Amino acid sequence: MDDYYKILGLEKNVSPEEIKKAYRKLAQIHHPDKGGDPEQFKKINEAYQVLSDPQKRAQYDRFGKNFEQAQGGGFGGGGFSGFEDIFANFQGGGFSGFEDVFSDIFGGGGTARSRHRAGRDISVDVEITLEEAARGAEREISLYKTVKCPKCGGKGAEPGSKLKTCPTCKGKGRVEQKSSAGFFSFSQVVNCPECHGRGELAEKKCSQCGGDGRVKDKVTLKIKIPEGVDNGQIISLSGQGEAGALGTAAGDLYVNIHVLPHRLFGRRGENLYQRKEINFVQAALGDKIEADVLFGKVDLKISPGLESGTVLKLKGKGMPRLHGRGKGDMMVEVKVKTPKNISSKTKKLLEELGKELL
Ligand SMILES: [Zn+2]
Ligand SMILES: [Zn+2]
Repeated sequence: MDDYYKILGLEKNVSPEEIKKAYRKLAQIHHPDKGGDPEQFKKINEAYQVLSDPQKRAQYDRFGKNFEQAQGGGFGGGGFSGFEDIFANFQGGGFSGFEDVFSDIFGGGGTARSRHRAGRDISVDVEITLEEAARGAEREISLYKTVKCPKCGGKGAEPGSKLKTCPTCKGKGRVEQKSSAGFFSFSQVVNCPECHGRGELAEKKCSQCGGDGRVKDKVTLKIKIPEGVDNGQIISLSGQGEAGALGTAAGDLYVNIHVLPHRLFGRRGENLYQRKEINFVQAALGDKIEADVLFGKVDLKISPGLESGTVLKLKGKGMPRLHGRGKGDMMVEVKVKTPKNISSKTKKLLEELGKELL
């Protein structure tokens, strides 16, 4: 995995402002619309996603090396990896999520089998354009994940085989677990690791899943992205993560939304921003010009005597509010440009104008 700091050309201890500045500069240079390499652009965005979020950055700084080991496949491209699972846990689970992460990275105390838990969460990245964020979008994503075993329906028993009382918990579904830390030892009642709390086990294990109740399969999901969604927001789909062992609860699926930078518009929340240039005759006399908005163009009235840097508001031409009513505004900063490379005719006219203005 590439080092996020290196991708942005930064040292580790830089300020958030410096990260933002470096990202803006690189994103401009590498933007595919401007002939940049889409792969490089993607990497820059990924790096920024992590480093611009204080929580994610702290985790990356702290566990960076472990992230590297945990990472299997690529980060983007709709795949999932341990690395992203970790983030999903942090965002979704609060403190208990942290414990999960910890045991995942460091192996906890027990073996994989004794670590009882429901299915793992999955996190995927989806890139959308600003237009898609405004209108809402749909994406089909394919995941290779554990699903309930179709042969045994998640029970882990070969169809037709009888169930027997679990020998580990003697049918109670719970066992006492003793652990010690220094001088202290304590015990805890936990779900039985053998039967996952059911108290029963199959006499004959399912031949397809080996008794675990789940198999790996490719699953295609249609994801609805709501209008008004912003960069960095996460859509969570409960129960769409990895299946749990023996029919226990499935994990969740987290969809990280990346809104690609727009060619013309910047965005802050529900408002959009752009810059428009006019000449000083238009500024002095007033004019009607065309301004780009998300889906087309609108007329923009320049009042006589407009000062350079004036921000005009196009009401309701911003982004729709997420789960809300109405829309933000489009803010147009009008810059008066000074003519350069003027012809001799223009020069004469300007000189005459100059005398007039004295
Ligand atoms: Zn099975
Ligand atoms: Zn048991």
